[in-house]
Amino acid sequence: MAVEVRSQSAFATAQRRFDAAADVIGLSEDQRLLLREIKRELVVHFPVKLDNGRVRVFTGYRVHHNISRGPAKGGLRYQAGLNLDTVRALAMLMTWKCSVVSLPYGGAKGGVDVDPRALSTNELEHMTRRFATEIALLIGPERDIPAPDLGTDAQTMAWIMDTISMHSGHSVTASVTGKPVDVGGSEGRHEAAGRGVTYLTLEALKYLHIEDETPTVAVQGFGKVGSATARLLTEAGLRVVAVSDSKGAVHNPKGLDLEALEEHRQVRGGVSGFKKAEDIDNQDLLGLPVTVLVPAATENQITEANADRVRARLITEAANAALSPEADRLLNDRGVFLVPDILANSGGVIASYFEWVQDLQAFFWEEEEVNTKLHHIITRAFYDVLHTSVNKRVDMRTAAYVIAVQRVANATTVRGIYP
Ligand code: NAD
Repeated sequence: MAVEVRSQSAFATAQRRFDAAADVIGLSEDQRLLLREIKRELVVHFPVKLDNGRVRVFTGYRVHHNISRGPAKGGLRYQAGLNLDTVRALAMLMTWKCSVVSLPYGGAKGGVDVDPRALSTNELEHMTRRFATEIALLIGPERDIPAPDLGTDAQTMAWIMDTISMHSGHSVTASVTGKPVDVGGSEGRHEAAGRGVTYLTLEALKYLHIEDETPTVAVQGFGKVGSATARLLTEAGLRVVAVSDSKGAVHNPKGLDLEALEEHRQVRGGVSGFKKAEDIDNQDLLGLPVTVLVPAATENQITEANADRVRARLITEAANAALSPEADRLLNDRGVFLVPDILANSGGVIASYFEWVQDLQAFFWEEEEVNTKLHHIITRAFYDVLHTSVNKRVDMRTAAYVIAVQRVANATTVRGIYP
């Protein structure tokens, strides 16, 4: 029984993927022991007074996996059922993500076990400010820089930045990224994760010589990353034929009118019922005969149970850990090309890095400069991973991990073990 629980653990899956890369690299036993564990984890239980005068106690987390290469970096998510195991897995993923694209950061993740839609804006602000205070002992420009993730946004980051600043007595803009531009945010940051997904999808299509006249796309999850990806891929000439959210999916083989769909979503609170498309089942979206599938919702969406339904030739894994290791193997065996999560959604953290650099220098760039630098870094990383995949005869995910783990191992070796 204990073994079964372990095999379902998100962190155990992250460790399995690390182990696969460590085997390819031939990492020493000592380095494995160090890199496969979490450096530090903070769990907080804190009260918030609700609008009705009652008190509710929330549980939140902030975890640092490894900080050998620089300050800890990673998102904060508000998600019902969030637990320490998931946060550990996502923190480890952040270490590899920052490393594979050569950012001078370590990996962190955090969040609160809460459905943010169930709180009023007032309650959300109070919860965010109290949570920020609880984890403030870890946060700061040189130590740990949070960013938005599932269920959080630029407003959340503004509240956190303000809270950290109030405690410091001066504005500490570089303490979080993904802020509104008015308070030290970067041009281009809000859609950078989707822009990175777009650049990589286009690069992969080029590499695969996919000659479809107009490649078609299905996007699972129409949130910050999914909606930006859908729009940018459409602008690049691809045809987005289906998108979904947690409540349902819509499909139009001729292509979706994304502007009208966005208006519909804002009014109706979801994509379902959109007049210019047909409602389909969420699971059916994954099996559509499209060129590209972009899972941009949450983890474990494509598993052993449904991988055989996938008909896309390319998967750009925008959501963290959207594919299970078993799905990886099944799809790889069928020749489906994967751009793995740590590379696929790294556009978000790359632009966060740009935002942090701009805040520290108090010198801001135009959006074109942000996008050009993002394109350069992410395209270089794509070809690094591709060459490693070809040269070492490993799949794209293992190749991305090999590069990332090797860099962190090098940093650990050269720094040595304290004291
Ligand atoms: P978000 O909260 O803005 O959007 C998530 C979307 O997924 C929503 O539309 C939600 O309804 C939908 N969804 C949830 N469960 C679903 C399901 N089972 N089927 C279909 N749709 C479902 O979150 P986001 O910021 O867009 O993040 C999406 C993913 O991208 C997450 O894995 C996150 O960790 C990752 N990511 C985000 C960023 C960023 O900058 N926001 C950066 C890197 C990675």
